[in-house]
Amino acid sequence: MIKFEDVSKSYENGTQVLEGVNLVILPKEFVFIVGPSGAGKTTLVKLLIREELPTTGSIFFEDTDVTKVKKNLLPSLRRKIGVVFQDFKLLDSKTVFENVAVSLEVVERPEGEIKQVVPNVLNLVSLLNKSECFPYQLSGGEKQRLAIARALAHEPKVLIADEPTGNIDPVASDEVVHLLEKINTLGTTVIMATHEVGIVNRMKRRVVLMHDGKIVKDEKVGRYEV
Ligand code: ADP
Repeated sequence: MIKFEDVSKSYENGTQVLEGVNLVILPKEFVFIVGPSGAGKTTLVKLLIREELPTTGSIFFEDTDVTKVKKNLLPSLRRKIGVVFQDFKLLDSKTVFENVAVSLEVVERPEGEIKQVVPNVLNLVSLLNKSECFPYQLSGGEKQRLAIARALAHEPKVLIADEPTGNIDPVASDEVVHLLEKINTLGTTVIMATHEVGIVNRMKRRVVLMHDGKIVKDEKVGRYEV
């Protein structure tokens, strides 16, 4: 479903961030991408959603070579790949409901569909009772769950969470990880980039370890030792 073939990436200033990355992720997998800060985890995510282009190599999402997608087809690619970040990226002046609805409105989904889909995803992340709240009225964990709800609005095939627990306390982190597990059970491929050893080792899932831009370990039931 996702395939990186001999991917390398250098930024304009000459920094080589990824080198010879080969990675295959199958449908419905749950994969941790781990490694210290600066290892290249976020760059990997940015390449997959074509926020950046690789210097060499190919990246496939289903049958599409992501590096060759025409600009006008990028939004449709990105709707298939939901992404959440450490800093939530919520719209502060909009309610919980509106934060999710907006992503459907921009692609002109009918109002009836929005009224059905938004409560569904809010229910999935246990935020239905906060629909009318604004982000400042939410805890860190709730904000991250809202970001996840928004990423799920288009029913993506893949959900990527880049350090989703970086800004929240341990209890909220566990809730977020269990939510990701539930989403995975419902059929979505989940990729979580993290450097939180405790979470990774408790979950007993596939672990891809990155170091200095290279994949140095890839285990089906992995542990993360630092
Ligand atoms: P991680 O997510 O594992 O912390 P990143 O992919 O964010 O790693 O970064 C890997 C390396 O690439 C870091 O050394 C970072 O400074 C560098 N880097 C990231 N973005 C850019 C950029 N736009 N220009 C130059 N260097 C960058």
